[in-house]
Amino acid sequence: MPVKDPELIAIFKNRVLLKKVCRKCGALNSAKAIKCRRCRSTNLRFKKAK
Ligand SMILES: [Zn+2]
Repeated sequence: MPVKDPELIAIFKNRVLLKKVCRKCGALNSAKAIKCRRCRSTNLRFKKAK
């Protein structure tokens, strides 16, 4: 079933793209994360949107 609701699409895109990747251990964290959930490093970057 194709999603046509633009609001739903925006939410879906945010869920996929707004992730932070730890530069230290490579763990995936939520976009709101300040610290890595695995190694507690604050060295996080946003996952590239492609
Ligand atoms: Zn980490």
